[in-house]
Amino acid sequence: MGIDSHSSVFGPVPPRADGKINLIGLSRQDLAAAVADLGEKPFRAKQLWGWIYGRGVTDFQAMTNIAKPLRVGLAERFAIERPETSRHVTSVDGTRKWLLKLRDGQEIEAVHIPEEDRGALCVSSQVGCTLTCSFCHTGTQRLVRNLEPAEILGQVMLCRDALGEWGTPHEARRFTNIVMMGMGEPLYNYDAVAKALTIVMDAEGIAISKRRITLSTSGVVPMMRRCGEELGVNLAVSLHAVRDDLRDVLVPLNRKYPIAELLDACRSYPGINNARRITFEYVMLKGVNDSVADAKELVRLLRGIPAKVNLIPWNPWPGAGYETSTKAQIDRFAQVLMDAHLASPVRATRGQDIMAACGQLKSDSVRQRKFRTPAPPAISATG
Ligand code: SAH
Ligand code: SF4
Repeated sequence: MGIDSHSSVFGPVPPRADGKINLIGLSRQDLAAAVADLGEKPFRAKQLWGWIYGRGVTDFQAMTNIAKPLRVGLAERFAIERPETSRHVTSVDGTRKWLLKLRDGQEIEAVHIPEEDRGALCVSSQVGCTLTCSFCHTGTQRLVRNLEPAEILGQVMLCRDALGEWGTPHEARRFTNIVMMGMGEPLYNYDAVAKALTIVMDAEGIAISKRRITLSTSGVVPMMRRCGEELGVNLAVSLHAVRDDLRDVLVPLNRKYPIAELLDACRSYPGINNARRITFEYVMLKGVNDSVADAKELVRLLRGIPAKVNLIPWNPWPGAGYETSTKAQIDRFAQVLMDAHLASPVRATRGQDIMAACGQLKSDSVRQRKFRTPAPPAISATG
C-alpha cells in the first residue's frame, strides 16, 4: 500500500458480539442523536456525557440521576467499553505500561510516565505504522490499521481508571498531559485522532486542555495546518536529520515532504510563538546524525522558528543496525544547541525495566518483521 493511505490494511473493527453500540467515541451530537432515537430529551445526553467522561462510569446502573427503566433501556442497546488489558506492568520508577487487546485481537500499548508534579500518557494512534523509519521498531510491524476514536480514548480512560483520578481536581492529578507519541503516525489517522482529542479536551469531561496535549508527526506536511487550526494542540516534529539524503533513509517520508517543505509548514503552524514552541525531536544515533557539525546545521535550520529540541537517546532493538550516541557526544551536541538557546533537557529514558520507552512501543508478543532495504553503508551505523 502507498504511504499516503489513510485506510486500514485489513477491514473495519468488527461490531460487538452482543450487538450493542459502544458509546465511547461518539461526539456530543452523535450521542444526542442516539438518545433522541430512544425518544429521550437532549438533556439526557448531557447527563450521560457527564457520567461517561466526567466520572468514568462504565455501568449504566450507576447513573443515579437517570430513571431506572431508562438505565435498563440504555444497557440493552449500548455499552461503555474499555479496551481489554492483556498486561499492566509498573516499572520501579513508577512508569506504567498497558498492553491492550482490541476487539479484533490486535494489540497496542500505552505508557504513563509520572514526573514530580505531572505525568504524561503516551498514546498510540495506529496498530503498527505504514511508515518505515529505519530506527523505529513500530515501523517493522507487519499488520497496520488505524485505531478507532474509541480505541484512542480507551487508552486515556484506562489510565484515569488505573490512577483513580475520575473527579480529581486538575492540581492533584498525576495524569495531566497527553503525548501522541505511541505507535503509529497520528496525522495518517487524523479523523479518528481529532474526534478522540476533541472529546478529551471537552471541559465537561476528561478536560485535558490543548496546551497539555502534544501531537508528534514524522512530517505529514499537508495535514499540519489543519491539525493546528482545528485542534490547536502542541506540535512535535520528528526531524532526526539535517540533510535530505540522510533524512530520506531515517524517515523515508522525507522523500515526499523534504526538510525545507517541512520547516515551512512549521513556520506557519497556527498559534506558534516564543511561548508556544514546536518541539523538534532528534534521535541520537552514533556516528549517523550526532556530529557537532550536525548540531550547528540544526541551529541554522531552525533559525526564526519558535523551536525547542528534544534530544532522544536512541532506544535499541535487536537487528536495527544502529547504536545510541555516547553520553559525551550527546552532551557536546546539546551544548551547541544550548549556546543557541535551543536546548531542552535530553529526554530521560524511563521505564527501561519494562521496555516502556515512549516512541519505541512494542509488544513482546508481536515480533513480525517487514522486509526492509538496509540503509546505504555510507550513512548506516553498523557499529
Ligand atoms: N509517528 C510519529 C509519532 C510516534 S513516534 C512520529 O514519528 O513522530 C514518537 C517519537 O519516537 C518519534 O520522534 C520517533 O522518531 C521516536 N522513536 C521511534 N523509535 C525510536 C527509538 N527506537 N528510540 C528513540 N526514539 C524513537
Ligand atoms: Fe511510524 Fe513514527 Fe515509527 Fe516513523 S518513527 S515508523 S512515523 S511510528
